[in-house]
Amino acid sequence: MYITIVGGGFGGVKTALELAKESTNQITLITDKPDFQYYPALYGAATGRSHLESWVPLTTIFNGKKNVTIQYDTIETIDPLAKILSGKSGQTYAYETCVMALGTVTTYFGIQGLETYSYGIKSAGEIEKLKQHIYTDVAEGRGVDKRYIVIGAGPTGVELAAALGSYLKKLSKHLRVKDSTMHVALVEAAPRVLPRMSEKASAKVLRRLEKLGVKVQTGKTVESATEDLITVSGELMTSDTIIWTSGVANHPFYKANADNFEFAPNGRIVVDSHMQTKNGVYVIGDNAATQFTGLAQTALHDAIYVAKHLERVANGQPLMDYTAVMPPVVVPVGAFWAVFEWRKIHITGVVAAMIRRAADFIGYSDILPIGQVFGIWRPHRVWHDEPKLSPVEAKE
Ligand SMILES: Cc1cc2nc3c(=O)[nH]c(=O)nc-3n(C[C@H](O)[C@H](O)[C@H](O)COP(=O)(O)OP(=O)(O)OC[C@H]3O[C@@H](n4cnc5c(N)ncnc54)[C@H](O)[C@@H]3O)c2cc1C
Repeated sequence: MYITIVGGGFGGVKTALELAKESTNQITLITDKPDFQYYPALYGAATGRSHLESWVPLTTIFNGKKNVTIQYDTIETIDPLAKILSGKSGQTYAYETCVMALGTVTTYFGIQGLETYSYGIKSAGEIEKLKQHIYTDVAEGRGVDKRYIVIGAGPTGVELAAALGSYLKKLSKHLRVKDSTMHVALVEAAPRVLPRMSEKASAKVLRRLEKLGVKVQTGKTVESATEDLITVSGELMTSDTIIWTSGVANHPFYKANADNFEFAPNGRIVVDSHMQTKNGVYVIGDNAATQFTGLAQTALHDAIYVAKHLERVANGQPLMDYTAVMPPVVVPVGAFWAVFEWRKIHITGVVAAMIRRAADFIGYSDILPIGQVFGIWRPHRVWHDEPKLSPVEAKE
């Protein structure tokens, strides 16, 4: 089989790894970045941990896989009739079977000033910018109180706000900044934190955040932002740093190629029971309008399904329908504390934190050879003194 996969994230990489097990398969992975980003650990790189925990060069992942070719390009258009993809580089790629896993992009919902004055945490570049900013802000902030506002109390915002409080304290101590106070606020439009988890989980996480010194404001909407002020539900708040963790939208590639795809009300792509779109392209991960889309574990599940499905098609075996599987959710809230929820199981505290560590180990081993998993999984505490590395430099 000749398979072209677009997107080197959870879905694309896992599909390629699964298909590469069969030596007669020839896989081309087209992606716009040289590294795989392990998003769940990305915020850690801005709060005292190393970038080495959150991004891995694709060449490491596919080392020794002779039937996988990696092409670096940004795919801009698709012609499903001619079966051709076109890249930003001007190159075209003919495909036989195409699997798309482009992930999502950040959206600011048109909130005035937010794109300009907030920090993002979705890419290595954004994380590097935030990390440098925090360092300078703390180092130069002697005698001045500092206000950090994290917007969005989904899993990413909660994890970040919780980690930020203790990191700022440690960084101040490290830099011998004794005379300024760090304030961390978490603002959420929904009536409670972690609105997609149970009320019980929300209540416990709220208490934990408050214990960590995070000022939580729920039911509040961000209306606009300037360099040092943010308007939240009509109220002006001073802020030195705004971090935007809300708002993801489906990848703009699909809108740019709208004739070729059918859109679900949430902007994701409608796929059939084999994860195929109306034009025969497979769409998986965050791009697909499946029940549990938006989670890394769903993207991995989709990848395994599609790889098996393609093998069945090639071997003339009976086809099986895709079934959505509810993944467990584990959100760390500061050191040695997390909340775990799956169906009726609900665990908080240190046990949940251990489950999260185990889940990360499994997450890395889904992508990396087992021999390399421990190296990336073990905590790499580096503070800010770590040399500034771009993801490209980091792989060398
Ligand atoms: C900060 C953060 C924390 C998260 N934490 C968790 C968590 O704890 N647990 C969990 O389950 N999920 C988490 N998620 C969600 C999870 O990361 C996503 O669901 C998952 O990455 C989706 O996989 P994907 O393959 O669809 O997309 P991605 O993993 O985003 O991969 C998309 C890939 O496509 C590439 N690409 C994009 N456009 C193009 C183009 N035009 N041409 C070529 N290549 C392109 C990108 O560079 C990227 O490599 C988190 C997400 C974020 C942002």
